[in-house]
Amino acid sequence: MRAVVFAAEGELTVAERPEPVPGPREVLIETAAVGICGTDTHVLDGEFEGTVFPLVPGHEATGTVVALGPGADEGPTALAIGDHVAVNPSSTCGECDLCLTGRQNLCRAWNGMGVVRADGAAQQRFTAPVANVFRLRPDTDVFEAALIEPLACAIHGWDVLPRRMGDHVLVYGSGTMGLLMAQLAPRAGAASVTIVDVNPDRLVTAAEVGIEHRYTSAEDADRAEWDVVIDCTGSIAAIEDGLPRVMAGGVFQHFGVAPAEATAHYSPFRIYRDEVSVVGTMAVLNSFGRAVAMFEAGAIKARPMISHSFTLKDYGQALRMFRAGQGRKLQVRPNQDTSQILLS
Ligand SMILES: [Zn+2]
Ligand SMILES: [Zn+2]
Repeated sequence: MRAVVFAAEGELTVAERPEPVPGPREVLIETAAVGICGTDTHVLDGEFEGTVFPLVPGHEATGTVVALGPGADEGPTALAIGDHVAVNPSSTCGECDLCLTGRQNLCRAWNGMGVVRADGAAQQRFTAPVANVFRLRPDTDVFEAALIEPLACAIHGWDVLPRRMGDHVLVYGSGTMGLLMAQLAPRAGAASVTIVDVNPDRLVTAAEVGIEHRYTSAEDADRAEWDVVIDCTGSIAAIEDGLPRVMAGGVFQHFGVAPAEATAHYSPFRIYRDEVSVVGTMAVLNSFGRAVAMFEAGAIKARPMISHSFTLKDYGQALRMFRAGQGRKLQVRPNQDTSQILLS
């Protein structure tokens, strides 16, 4: 069986590995698709907190159940061979103070499949505990469904935002996360959604998924202020541009990952005087099952968001393309023999 292996910091290989065997309450999954995102580059570059090498990457995964460990076909989450599934990559200790106060996404011993110490899905088959495995409907596109993991992060993002009918929402960044946050906004009650990206090519995708107001600068928009401003870029320039555009009483959200050492400027007087809230959002908290439900309800236009698929052998090429900012969502499809351009 073939697998992509991050052997050490900066060292990417494709290796032959023994077939994984599912343990108690685990299943073996034949991988359909694995999304690539910025986290994978941070893991390979040794910039992700806690990564243990060697590690198989891949945390945005779907596939088909092909074997059951002892007990995996029992209980409320019973699975069967042939089920199409999406996999929640997070596991938490259940024992620390944060887990015990309902903040498992901030667990002090948090382990993410493909990012910390459990092998991920950029391999032909992988195992996962049944508690992390969510069954899809047979008619759900199992490749497009690899967007469910980032969608679960977006739903947690909306969980920590106030949801009032009639809000005007501004999103910075028309990459995968910005497009997901913007597409969920009407579901959360937004009266209007505006998206900003300095790259006009990315705004084409925003148009294709149905975001009405699109600009390369918020300065060009027909509004001056918004109830909710969400940064999905992590860029200090975008953050400093966006925070002053929050209406009095409104909220600014940090969704994008800024460099750990970076700082941004804002006016404390403005935050005080206008009661502006600034909130963060981190990964997934009890939102994976709801992401499956929203995806299968058609809340997201997935097809225009995924541009290329790659074989395991071409994983390095996919990462180079990602780093160059080319294409839309890039996927690895470990059991396909050819890399494909899905959108021309
Ligand atoms: Zn990701
Ligand atoms: Zn914990």
